[in-house]
Amino acid sequence: MARIVMKFGGTSMAGIERIRHVAGLVKREAEAGHQVAVVVSAMAGETDRLIHFCREASSLYDPREYDVVVASGEQVTSGLLAITLTGMGLNARSYMGWQLPIRTSAGHAAALIDGVDADVLERVFDESGIAVIPGFQGLAADGSLATLGRGGSDTSAVAVAAAMKADRCDIYTDVDGVYTTDPRIVPRARKIPVITYEEMLELASVGAKVLQTRSVGLAMREKIPIKVLSSFDDRPGTMVVAENAIEEDMERQVITGIAYEKNEARMTLTAMPDTPAAAASVFGPLAEAGVNVDMIVQSVPRAGERTDLTFTVPATALAQAVDVLERLRSEIGFADILTDTAITKVSIVGVGMRGNPGVAALMFRTLADRGINLLAITTSEIKVSVLIPEDYTELAVRVLHTAYGLDAESEA
Ligand code: ADP
Ligand code: ASP
Ligand code: MG
Repeated sequence: MARIVMKFGGTSMAGIERIRHVAGLVKREAEAGHQVAVVVSAMAGETDRLIHFCREASSLYDPREYDVVVASGEQVTSGLLAITLTGMGLNARSYMGWQLPIRTSAGHAAALIDGVDADVLERVFDESGIAVIPGFQGLAADGSLATLGRGGSDTSAVAVAAAMKADRCDIYTDVDGVYTTDPRIVPRARKIPVITYEEMLELASVGAKVLQTRSVGLAMREKIPIKVLSSFDDRPGTMVVAENAIEEDMERQVITGIAYEKNEARMTLTAMPDTPAAAASVFGPLAEAGVNVDMIVQSVPRAGERTDLTFTVPATALAQAVDVLERLRSEIGFADILTDTAITKVSIVGVGMRGNPGVAALMFRTLADRGINLLAITTSEIKVSVLIPEDYTELAVRVLHTAYGLDAESEA
């Protein structure tokens, strides 16, 4: 007997037919003698629809009420799945985030999970029951409902898995595993059978939305093995595990995967003063306003001259970032703010990059050969990211995929 969390994404829950199919997968695990908790997303497209309603109601909506509206999508699917499972003769019940509870921080629309109480789940398992839990939602300390940010059901699933000390967390989605890049834009992408938490964390954080980044970080900390697989077929998926769990002699590529992120915006502050405090005067107020800054490029000015400071922020935070900095224009002392949202960050990730010189150079050469301009570059130990004009996204990902020898023999 094992303890398993099964998480089903929006495409898997889109409509009664699919929910019935999901119920069949849950039944199979329960009948194999496993203790199962199920975490579900809203039906595909539903969260977008609900967010749209909030915006229509008022452009200055209260984030608390936004949470009340958008959390409803998962409430519907968890109830429907519990009804379907019960109809199949299984002992299933839904438990909303506030009923377990899944405790979160106060940050509405982007709350963090503080912990999940396991008492209710233990009682359910004692009675050979199946708990169906809506992802994406929890209970803030002040008693209000909170949601976790887009894609947050993955994190709900891992948090539930940690609380119930699950043997693994199975993430069922609309692709049958983690691929070398998004299989929807590179048909020759290859499925990765086993990937380390560290690599998955980097890939997710630079745009591979197959898993929410926070879910991978939590799984790594709590040592929960994740399996990514399709709810539509039985093919083996991808295991996400610790580096020491991967056989050493396994043949490794230098680059494990390539990801892209279109939801970034570039900001340039022109004619910045060249003082030691200049960067802090920009990034301090942005941090206070909760704006995440990602890539930063600053050219070194000649003595006594001014320089441009370029950086990226999430596209959704651009208006706020401009507002914060405009107010401080005279204090910081820049001339102008230039912005550009038609950009993409493309990243290559792989632990094989460590101590392997020339990996970044191949990236720059490959893109230069196609005439693709690099607007910014950042690196970490196992990642190189470049900022390029958005129109070149698919071309860049495809040529890099080929250049690093990641293409499958035939199309997937
Ligand atoms: P769910 O609704 O099940 O949570 P998501 O849409 O959040 O599903 O994530 C699955 C999608 O992630 C896939 O349809 C695929 O287009 C995209 N994706 C991006 N990068 C990758 C990758 N490297 N491997 C697999 N899928 C990827
Ligand atoms: N329904 C939420 C979203 O679309 C959460 C999730 O599906 O993970 O972002
Ligand atoms: Mg998702």
